[in-house]
Amino acid sequence: MRAYERLLKYVSYETTSDESSETCPSSPKELVLAEALVEELKQIGVADAHVDKDGYVYGSIPATKGAENEKAIGLIAHMDTAPAMSGANIKPRIIKDYDGADIVLNEKLGVVMDTVTFPHLTNYVGQDLIVTDGTTLLGADDKAGVAEIMTAAAQIIEADAQAGEGSAHGKICIAFTPDEEIGRGADRFDVEHFGADYAYTVDGGMLGEIEFENFNAASAKVHIKGENIHPGEAKNKMKNASLLAMEFNSMLPPAEIPAHTEGYEGFFHLCGMSGDEENAHLDYIVRDHSMDKFLERKAMLERITAYLNQKYGEGTVTLNMKDSYYNMREKLESDMYIVDRAVEAMRENDVEPIIQPIRGGTDGARLSFMGLPCPNLSTGGHNFHGKYEYVCIQSMDKMVDIIKTIVRKSN
Ligand SMILES: [Zn+2]
Repeated sequence: MRAYERLLKYVSYETTSDESSETCPSSPKELVLAEALVEELKQIGVADAHVDKDGYVYGSIPATKGAENEKAIGLIAHMDTAPAMSGANIKPRIIKDYDGADIVLNEKLGVVMDTVTFPHLTNYVGQDLIVTDGTTLLGADDKAGVAEIMTAAAQIIEADAQAGEGSAHGKICIAFTPDEEIGRGADRFDVEHFGADYAYTVDGGMLGEIEFENFNAASAKVHIKGENIHPGEAKNKMKNASLLAMEFNSMLPPAEIPAHTEGYEGFFHLCGMSGDEENAHLDYIVRDHSMDKFLERKAMLERITAYLNQKYGEGTVTLNMKDSYYNMREKLESDMYIVDRAVEAMRENDVEPIIQPIRGGTDGARLSFMGLPCPNLSTGGHNFHGKYEYVCIQSMDKMVDIIKTIVRKSN
Protein backbone atom coordinates (compact mmCIF):
# COMPACT_ATOMS: atom_id res chain seq x y z
CA MET A 1 0.00 0.00 0.00
CA ARG A 2 1.38 3.44 -0.90
CA ALA A 3 1.50 6.25 1.64
CA TYR A 4 -1.15 8.36 -0.13
CA GLU A 5 -3.64 5.49 0.03
CA ARG A 6 -3.23 5.46 3.79
CA LEU A 7 -3.62 9.25 3.87
CA LEU A 8 -6.94 8.99 2.02
CA LYS A 9 -8.13 6.56 4.67
CA TYR A 10 -6.93 8.68 7.63
CA VAL A 11 -8.52 11.92 6.42
CA SER A 12 -11.93 10.24 6.58
CA TYR A 13 -11.56 10.40 10.39
CA GLU A 14 -12.53 13.78 11.82
CA THR A 15 -9.84 14.66 14.38
CA THR A 16 -10.05 18.42 14.82
CA SER A 17 -8.52 19.30 18.19
CA ASP A 18 -10.47 21.57 20.50
CA GLU A 19 -8.76 24.37 22.40
CA SER A 20 -11.73 24.90 24.72
CA SER A 21 -11.58 21.32 25.98
CA GLU A 22 -9.65 20.39 29.09
CA THR A 23 -9.49 16.67 28.39
CA CYS A 24 -6.68 14.81 26.69
CA PRO A 25 -7.14 14.12 23.86
CA SER A 26 -9.14 17.31 23.50
CA SER A 27 -11.69 15.58 21.28
CA PRO A 28 -12.89 11.98 21.81
CA LYS A 29 -12.88 11.64 18.00
CA GLU A 30 -9.08 11.62 18.07
CA LEU A 31 -9.28 8.38 20.05
CA VAL A 32 -11.19 6.69 17.26
CA LEU A 33 -8.31 7.26 14.87
CA ALA A 34 -5.78 6.35 17.59
CA GLU A 35 -7.45 2.97 18.02
CA ALA A 36 -7.61 2.37 14.28
CA LEU A 37 -3.89 3.16 14.04
CA VAL A 38 -3.08 0.69 16.82
CA GLU A 39 -5.02 -1.97 14.89
CA GLU A 40 -3.14 -1.16 11.72
CA LEU A 41 0.24 -1.14 13.48
CA LYS A 42 -0.51 -4.60 14.84
CA GLN A 43 -1.59 -5.75 11.40
CA ILE A 44 1.70 -4.70 9.82
CA GLY A 45 3.60 -6.46 12.60
CA VAL A 46 4.22 -3.87 15.35
CA ALA A 47 3.46 -6.31 18.15
CA ASP A 48 3.62 -3.87 21.08
CA ALA A 49 1.38 -1.19 19.55
CA HIS A 50 -0.98 0.39 22.07
CA VAL A 51 -2.75 3.61 22.95
CA ASP A 52 -2.31 5.05 26.44
CA LYS A 53 -4.95 6.72 28.61
CA ASP A 54 -4.20 10.15 27.09
CA GLY A 55 -4.64 8.97 23.52
CA TYR A 56 -0.95 8.69 22.57
CA VAL A 57 -0.17 5.75 20.29
CA TYR A 58 3.17 4.00 20.83
CA GLY A 59 4.83 1.04 19.18
CA SER A 60 8.27 -0.18 18.22
CA ILE A 61 10.15 -2.34 15.74
CA PRO A 62 12.98 -4.25 17.42
CA ALA A 63 16.53 -3.90 16.18
CA THR A 64 17.68 -6.48 13.67
CA LYS A 65 20.14 -9.10 14.88
CA GLY A 66 23.55 -7.59 15.52
CA ALA A 67 22.24 -3.99 15.44
CA GLU A 68 20.99 -3.91 19.04
CA ASN A 69 23.61 -1.32 20.02
CA GLU A 70 22.57 1.14 17.33
CA LYS A 71 20.86 4.32 18.49
CA ALA A 72 17.10 3.94 18.79
CA ILE A 73 15.45 6.32 16.31
CA GLY A 74 11.96 7.69 16.94
CA LEU A 75 9.37 8.75 14.36
CA ILE A 76 6.53 11.00 15.48
CA ALA A 77 3.48 12.47 13.77
CA HIS A 78 0.30 14.03 15.11
CA MET A 79 -3.21 12.75 14.51
CA ASP A 80 -5.23 15.91 15.08
CA THR A 81 -6.01 18.63 12.55
CA ALA A 82 -6.08 22.39 13.05
CA PRO A 83 -9.24 23.93 14.53
CA ALA A 84 -8.79 26.90 12.17
CA MET A 85 -10.89 25.12 9.53
CA SER A 86 -13.37 22.27 9.43
CA GLY A 87 -11.84 18.80 9.33
CA ALA A 88 -15.17 16.99 8.96
CA ASN A 89 -16.44 15.32 5.78
CA ILE A 90 -13.20 15.86 3.93
CA LYS A 91 -13.59 14.98 0.27
CA PRO A 92 -10.07 14.62 -1.07
CA ARG A 93 -9.59 14.71 -4.83
CA ILE A 94 -6.62 13.34 -6.72
CA ILE A 95 -5.30 15.38 -9.61
CA LYS A 96 -3.29 13.00 -11.76
CA ASP A 97 -0.47 14.31 -13.94
CA TYR A 98 -0.98 17.95 -12.87
CA ASP A 99 -0.77 20.29 -15.87
CA GLY A 100 0.37 23.46 -14.06
CA ALA A 101 -2.91 25.35 -14.46
CA ASP A 102 -4.97 27.03 -11.72
CA ILE A 103 -6.90 24.37 -9.80
CA VAL A 104 -10.67 24.81 -9.39
CA LEU A 105 -11.32 23.31 -5.96
CA ASN A 106 -15.01 24.10 -5.90
CA GLU A 107 -16.78 25.39 -8.95
CA LYS A 108 -20.03 26.22 -7.17
CA LEU A 109 -18.34 28.25 -4.45
CA GLY A 110 -15.77 29.69 -6.81
CA VAL A 111 -12.78 28.43 -4.82
CA VAL A 112 -9.71 28.42 -7.04
CA MET A 113 -6.12 27.69 -6.10
CA ASP A 114 -4.14 29.83 -8.52
CA THR A 115 -0.48 29.62 -9.39
CA VAL A 116 0.14 33.34 -8.75
CA THR A 117 -0.87 33.13 -5.09
CA PHE A 118 0.64 29.64 -4.73
CA PRO A 119 3.66 29.63 -7.05
CA HIS A 120 5.08 26.37 -5.62
CA LEU A 121 2.27 24.56 -7.50
CA THR A 122 4.35 24.87 -10.65
CA ASN A 123 6.99 22.58 -9.10
CA TYR A 124 4.53 19.72 -9.42
CA VAL A 125 3.77 19.68 -13.13
CA GLY A 126 3.53 16.05 -14.23
CA GLN A 127 3.08 14.77 -10.66
CA ASP A 128 -0.05 13.79 -8.76
CA LEU A 129 -1.63 16.04 -6.12
CA ILE A 130 -4.31 15.52 -3.51
CA VAL A 131 -6.49 18.60 -2.95
CA THR A 132 -9.65 19.52 -1.04
CA ASP A 133 -13.13 20.35 -2.30
CA GLY A 134 -12.66 23.91 -1.06
CA THR A 135 -14.86 23.55 2.02
CA THR A 136 -12.46 21.92 4.52
CA LEU A 137 -8.77 21.53 5.16
CA LEU A 138 -7.15 18.36 3.86
CA GLY A 139 -5.50 17.06 7.00
CA ALA A 140 -2.21 16.20 5.31
CA ASP A 141 -0.95 18.12 8.36
CA ASP A 142 -0.20 15.76 9.79
CA LYS A 143 -1.89 12.62 8.50
CA ALA A 144 0.60 12.61 5.63
CA GLY A 145 3.26 12.20 8.33
CA VAL A 146 1.30 9.39 9.96
CA ALA A 147 0.85 7.69 6.57
CA GLU A 148 4.55 7.99 5.69
CA ILE A 149 5.69 6.57 9.02
CA MET A 150 3.14 3.73 8.82
CA THR A 151 4.14 2.87 5.25
CA ALA A 152 7.86 2.96 6.03
CA ALA A 153 7.25 0.76 9.09
CA ALA A 154 5.30 -1.78 7.02
CA GLN A 155 8.07 -1.94 4.43
CA ILE A 156 10.82 -2.22 7.04
CA ILE A 157 9.05 -5.08 8.83
CA GLU A 158 8.48 -6.86 5.54
CA ALA A 159 12.16 -6.50 4.63
CA ASP A 160 13.16 -7.73 8.10
CA ALA A 161 11.08 -10.86 7.56
CA GLN A 162 13.00 -11.54 4.38
CA ALA A 163 16.27 -10.69 6.20
CA GLY A 164 17.39 -8.81 3.12
CA GLU A 165 20.99 -7.75 2.90
CA GLY A 166 21.54 -4.14 4.00
CA SER A 167 18.26 -3.83 5.88
CA ALA A 168 19.89 -3.89 9.33
CA HIS A 169 18.56 -1.23 11.69
CA GLY A 170 18.50 -0.33 15.35
CA LYS A 171 15.31 -0.11 17.39
CA ILE A 172 12.66 2.06 15.74
CA CYS A 173 10.16 3.80 18.00
CA ILE A 174 6.87 5.09 16.63
CA ALA A 175 4.43 7.54 18.22
CA PHE A 176 1.27 9.23 17.02
CA THR A 177 0.23 12.12 19.23
CA PRO A 178 -2.99 14.07 19.83
CA ASP A 179 -3.54 17.82 20.14
CA GLU A 180 -0.41 19.19 18.46
CA GLU A 181 -2.43 21.93 16.78
CA ILE A 182 -3.52 23.37 20.12
CA GLY A 183 0.03 23.28 21.48
CA ARG A 184 -0.42 20.29 23.77
CA GLY A 185 1.11 17.48 21.73
CA ALA A 186 4.21 17.23 23.91
CA ASP A 187 2.39 17.77 27.23
CA ARG A 188 1.81 14.11 28.04
CA PHE A 189 4.38 12.57 25.75
CA ASP A 190 6.20 9.88 27.73
CA VAL A 191 9.80 10.22 26.55
CA GLU A 192 11.05 7.37 28.68
CA HIS A 193 8.32 4.97 27.62
CA PHE A 194 8.90 5.93 23.99
CA GLY A 195 12.45 4.68 24.34
CA ALA A 196 14.21 6.54 21.51
CA ASP A 197 17.63 8.20 21.74
CA TYR A 198 16.76 10.65 18.96
CA ALA A 199 13.57 11.32 17.07
CA TYR A 200 12.00 13.21 14.20
CA THR A 201 8.61 14.76 13.94
CA VAL A 202 7.43 14.18 10.36
CA ASP A 203 5.26 17.27 10.26
CA GLY A 204 6.84 19.75 7.85
CA GLY A 205 5.94 21.05 4.41
CA MET A 206 7.72 20.82 1.07
CA LEU A 207 9.80 17.72 0.35
CA GLY A 208 13.35 18.26 1.61
CA GLU A 209 12.61 20.50 4.57
CA ILE A 210 14.64 19.80 7.69
CA GLU A 211 13.88 22.12 10.55
CA PHE A 212 15.86 22.31 13.74
CA GLU A 213 15.61 25.99 14.60
CA ASN A 214 12.43 27.50 15.93
CA PHE A 215 11.49 30.60 17.87
CA ASN A 216 12.07 31.23 21.53
CA ALA A 217 8.59 32.16 22.63
CA ALA A 218 6.87 33.95 25.47
CA SER A 219 3.48 35.47 26.14
CA ALA A 220 3.21 38.87 27.79
CA LYS A 221 0.02 40.09 29.40
CA VAL A 222 -0.13 43.77 30.30
CA HIS A 223 -2.75 45.06 32.70
CA ILE A 224 -3.20 48.78 33.17
CA LYS A 225 -5.10 50.16 36.13
CA GLY A 226 -6.50 53.59 35.41
CA GLU A 227 -8.38 56.15 37.45
CA ASN A 228 -11.77 57.16 36.12
CA ILE A 229 -13.13 60.58 37.03
CA HIS A 230 -16.12 62.38 35.50
CA PRO A 231 -14.65 63.80 32.29
CA GLY A 232 -15.93 67.28 33.16
CA GLU A 233 -13.85 67.39 36.31
CA ALA A 234 -10.95 65.20 35.31
CA LYS A 235 -8.20 67.76 34.91
CA ASN A 236 -4.95 66.54 36.49
CA LYS A 237 -6.84 63.62 37.98
CA MET A 238 -7.98 61.09 35.38
CA LYS A 239 -5.66 58.28 34.38
CA ASN A 240 -7.24 56.81 31.29
CA ALA A 241 -6.16 53.16 31.15
CA SER A 242 -6.96 52.85 27.43
CA LEU A 243 -4.74 55.82 26.57
CA LEU A 244 -1.93 54.39 28.71
CA ALA A 245 -2.29 51.11 26.82
CA MET A 246 -1.78 53.00 23.58
CA GLU A 247 1.22 54.74 25.09
CA PHE A 248 2.64 51.37 26.10
CA ASN A 249 2.34 49.99 22.59
CA SER A 250 3.74 53.17 21.02
CA MET A 251 7.06 52.52 22.75
CA LEU A 252 7.57 49.21 20.95
CA PRO A 253 9.58 49.26 17.69
CA PRO A 254 6.92 49.61 14.97
CA ALA A 255 8.82 47.56 12.37
CA GLU A 256 9.22 44.56 14.65
CA ILE A 257 5.83 43.01 14.11
CA PRO A 258 4.84 39.86 12.18
CA ALA A 259 3.72 41.84 9.13
CA HIS A 260 7.20 43.35 8.71
CA THR A 261 9.49 40.46 9.61
CA GLU A 262 10.75 37.23 8.07
CA GLY A 263 13.58 34.69 8.31
CA TYR A 264 15.45 35.14 11.55
CA GLU A 265 13.76 38.46 12.45
CA GLY A 266 11.89 38.39 15.74
CA PHE A 267 8.84 40.39 16.75
CA PHE A 268 6.31 41.61 19.29
CA HIS A 269 2.81 40.65 18.25
CA LEU A 270 -0.22 42.36 19.78
CA CYS A 271 -2.81 39.60 19.61
CA GLY A 272 -5.51 41.16 21.72
CA MET A 273 -6.54 44.38 23.46
CA SER A 274 -9.45 45.59 25.48
CA GLY A 275 -10.09 48.49 27.77
CA ASP A 276 -12.01 51.43 29.14
CA GLU A 277 -10.92 54.33 31.36
CA GLU A 278 -10.53 52.16 34.43
CA ASN A 279 -8.84 49.01 33.10
CA ALA A 280 -7.02 48.03 29.96
CA HIS A 281 -5.38 44.83 28.78
CA LEU A 282 -2.81 44.18 26.10
CA ASP A 283 -1.89 40.62 25.08
CA TYR A 284 1.37 40.10 23.27
CA ILE A 285 3.43 37.20 22.11
CA VAL A 286 7.19 37.69 21.88
CA ARG A 287 9.27 35.68 19.41
CA ASP A 288 12.95 35.50 18.47
CA HIS A 289 15.31 32.76 17.28
CA SER A 290 18.23 34.33 19.11
CA MET A 291 18.16 33.79 22.87
CA ASP A 292 20.01 37.09 23.48
CA LYS A 293 17.52 39.05 21.43
CA PHE A 294 14.62 37.17 23.02
CA LEU A 295 15.85 38.18 26.49
CA GLU A 296 16.36 41.74 25.27
CA ARG A 297 12.78 41.85 23.98
CA LYS A 298 11.45 40.75 27.34
CA ALA A 299 13.71 43.28 29.06
CA MET A 300 12.28 46.01 26.84
CA LEU A 301 8.75 45.19 28.01
CA GLU A 302 9.99 45.40 31.58
CA ARG A 303 11.63 48.79 30.97
CA ILE A 304 8.47 50.20 29.41
CA THR A 305 6.47 48.94 32.39
CA ALA A 306 8.92 50.54 34.84
CA TYR A 307 8.92 53.82 32.92
CA LEU A 308 5.12 54.08 32.90
CA ASN A 309 4.94 53.20 36.58
CA GLN A 310 7.43 55.93 37.33
CA LYS A 311 5.43 58.38 35.25
CA TYR A 312 1.92 57.46 36.45
CA GLY A 313 2.48 55.84 39.83
CA GLU A 314 3.58 52.45 41.03
CA GLY A 315 1.07 49.69 40.31
CA THR A 316 -0.41 51.39 37.25
CA VAL A 317 1.05 48.81 34.87
CA THR A 318 1.58 45.16 35.66
CA LEU A 319 3.34 42.83 33.29
CA ASN A 320 2.99 39.06 33.33
CA MET A 321 5.36 37.17 31.11
CA LYS A 322 5.51 33.43 30.64
CA ASP A 323 7.92 31.51 28.44
CA SER A 324 6.16 29.09 26.09
CA TYR A 325 9.00 27.21 24.37
CA TYR A 326 12.61 27.62 23.30
CA ASN A 327 14.67 27.22 20.17
CA MET A 328 15.66 23.56 19.88
CA ARG A 329 18.85 24.59 18.10
CA GLU A 330 20.31 25.13 21.55
CA LYS A 331 19.78 21.43 22.29
CA LEU A 332 20.86 20.17 18.88
CA GLU A 333 23.87 22.20 17.85
CA SER A 334 26.23 20.49 20.26
CA ASP A 335 25.24 17.18 18.67
CA MET A 336 24.09 17.50 15.08
CA TYR A 337 24.07 13.73 14.56
CA ILE A 338 20.34 13.51 14.13
CA VAL A 339 20.21 16.43 11.68
CA ASP A 340 23.18 15.12 9.69
CA ARG A 341 21.56 11.73 9.46
CA ALA A 342 18.50 13.28 7.81
CA VAL A 343 20.62 15.42 5.47
CA GLU A 344 22.53 12.36 4.27
CA ALA A 345 19.39 10.26 3.89
CA MET A 346 17.77 12.93 1.73
CA ARG A 347 20.82 13.29 -0.49
CA GLU A 348 21.00 9.52 -0.87
CA ASN A 349 17.44 9.69 -2.19
CA ASP A 350 18.26 12.57 -4.57
CA VAL A 351 16.42 15.16 -2.50
CA GLU A 352 18.32 18.37 -1.76
CA PRO A 353 17.77 19.28 1.91
CA ILE A 354 16.14 22.64 2.57
CA ILE A 355 17.26 23.87 5.95
CA GLN A 356 15.36 26.87 7.22
CA PRO A 357 14.25 28.32 10.54
CA ILE A 358 10.68 27.71 11.64
CA ARG A 359 8.79 30.88 12.47
CA GLY A 360 6.81 29.09 15.13
CA GLY A 361 7.28 26.16 17.45
CA THR A 362 7.00 22.42 17.09
CA ASP A 363 6.33 19.54 19.41
CA GLY A 364 9.88 18.51 18.57
CA ALA A 365 11.16 21.72 20.16
CA ARG A 366 9.41 20.87 23.40
CA LEU A 367 10.56 17.25 23.21
CA SER A 368 14.15 18.39 22.64
CA PHE A 369 13.99 20.22 25.96
CA MET A 370 12.40 17.12 27.55
CA GLY A 371 15.56 15.18 26.66
CA LEU A 372 14.62 13.83 23.23
CA PRO A 373 16.47 15.70 20.44
CA CYS A 374 13.82 16.02 17.75
CA PRO A 375 14.14 18.00 14.50
CA ASN A 376 11.24 18.21 12.05
CA LEU A 377 11.07 16.66 8.58
CA SER A 378 8.95 17.45 5.54
CA THR A 379 5.79 15.55 4.63
CA GLY A 380 5.37 16.88 1.10
CA GLY A 381 2.33 19.01 1.92
CA HIS A 382 1.59 22.71 1.43
CA ASN A 383 -0.80 25.42 2.69
CA PHE A 384 -1.61 23.72 5.97
CA HIS A 385 -4.61 24.70 8.13
CA GLY A 386 -6.87 25.83 5.31
CA LYS A 387 -8.85 24.89 2.25
CA TYR A 388 -5.86 25.31 -0.07
CA GLU A 389 -3.98 22.52 1.66
CA TYR A 390 -2.57 19.94 -0.74
CA VAL A 391 0.05 17.22 -0.83
CA CYS A 392 2.10 15.69 -3.62
CA ILE A 393 1.77 11.91 -3.89
CA GLN A 394 5.30 11.41 -5.24
CA SER A 395 6.74 13.53 -2.39
CA MET A 396 5.00 11.20 0.06
CA ASP A 397 6.60 8.15 -1.62
CA LYS A 398 9.98 9.88 -1.40
CA MET A 399 9.50 10.56 2.30
CA VAL A 400 8.85 6.84 2.86
CA ASP A 401 12.18 6.07 1.18
CA ILE A 402 13.95 8.79 3.16
CA ILE A 403 12.58 7.46 6.46
CA LYS A 404 13.75 3.97 5.52
CA THR A 405 17.22 5.31 4.75
CA ILE A 406 17.37 7.32 7.97
CA VAL A 407 16.67 4.37 10.25
CA ARG A 408 18.98 1.99 8.38
CA LYS A 409 22.18 1.07 10.20
CA SER A 410 24.90 3.38 8.93
CA ASN A 411 27.35 0.74 7.70
ZN1 LIG B 1 1.34 19.68 11.92
